[in-house]
Amino acid sequence: EESSEALQPIKIAESSSRFDELWDISLRARIDEAMEAGEIFCVYQPKIDTRNGNMTGVEALVRWQDPARGFIPPMHFIAQCEKAGRMDALTEFVFEHACAAGRLMHFRGRSITMSVNISATLLSDMKIVGMVRNVLQATGFDPRFLILEVTETSRIGNLETAEMVLNELKALGTRISMDDFGVGETNFETFFELPFDEVKIDRLFVANITKSAKAKAIVTSVVQMGRDARIGVVAEGAEDAETLKLLTEIGCTHVQGYILARPMGLDNLMKFNEFGESGAREA
Ligand code: C2E
Ligand code: MG
Ligand code: MG
Ligand code: MG
Repeated sequence: EESSEALQPIKIAESSSRFDELWDISLRARIDEAMEAGEIFCVYQPKIDTRNGNMTGVEALVRWQDPARGFIPPMHFIAQCEKAGRMDALTEFVFEHACAAGRLMHFRGRSITMSVNISATLLSDMKIVGMVRNVLQATGFDPRFLILEVTETSRIGNLETAEMVLNELKALGTRISMDDFGVGETNFETFFELPFDEVKIDRLFVANITKSAKAKAIVTSVVQMGRDARIGVVAEGAEDAETLKLLTEIGCTHVQGYILARPMGLDNLMKFNEFGESGAREA
């Protein structure tokens, strides 16, 4: 009887979703332990000025390498972290590591910017301001080089509150970036109302500029918009030389993508692009 029951597709579906649920519950239970054990850590992806090949900054990206489960994609565990009410803790963890890494790079004479992702849900109260202030103080990282990338801007609850929080963060000296511009429910109202200094054009458009006239038109107009509004524009997800060439022709000079550099650990970052860097000479 048991085996015939197991053959029913509905049972298989149920048991697999039950498995996912248990998997996620145990994932949530291990977040703090994983941060402490170094299973959760940061990697850094360079942002390159294509006019001269210099690295002008990096983006901190969180990773979870679990000894038993292997690599857990950030999108997945970030969602679990939110569910567990541990987003504050994870964000603080990333800020601490990112600012310490940024401080170290500056100490070595390489004045790069450090971008840290913050999820829009953290803009619903002032807690994040104190956290960022404390981390800046503790690490000694120059706030003028810190860029906060707001992800999932569609999840901003209240624009006025978010504006207040972002203005406080800017008052610390930091810059604010709108991530994944043009996808999901990112919209012009959010862009218009909030004090962004930079937009990051989503990879969906960037990756398709050589294949799609629409994608090319979108990237071109965002670049133009950035110029007119005096807002920085970064293209994310350039994967091949042809894309890079076209981005340059369009006038998009700040690019992140596998063709230029993949996310890497701090040890490799310190060696990356060491001699092509103008920042080091300007400092
Ligand atoms: P994002 O902020 O838009 O980051 C860019 C993502 O694109 C990263 O994925 C990066 O590894 C990937 N990427 C960069 N260049 C290329 C390319 O040329 N081709 C392809 N296929 N991918 C490229 P990752 O690290 O998996 O992160 C995914 C998302 O998770 C991030 O998207 C961000 O929204 C979120 N995330 C990552 N770290 C953090 C964090 O510390 N805090 C928060 N709140 N979110 C984070
Ligand atoms: Mg980002
Ligand atoms: Mg992005
Ligand atoms: Mg993206």
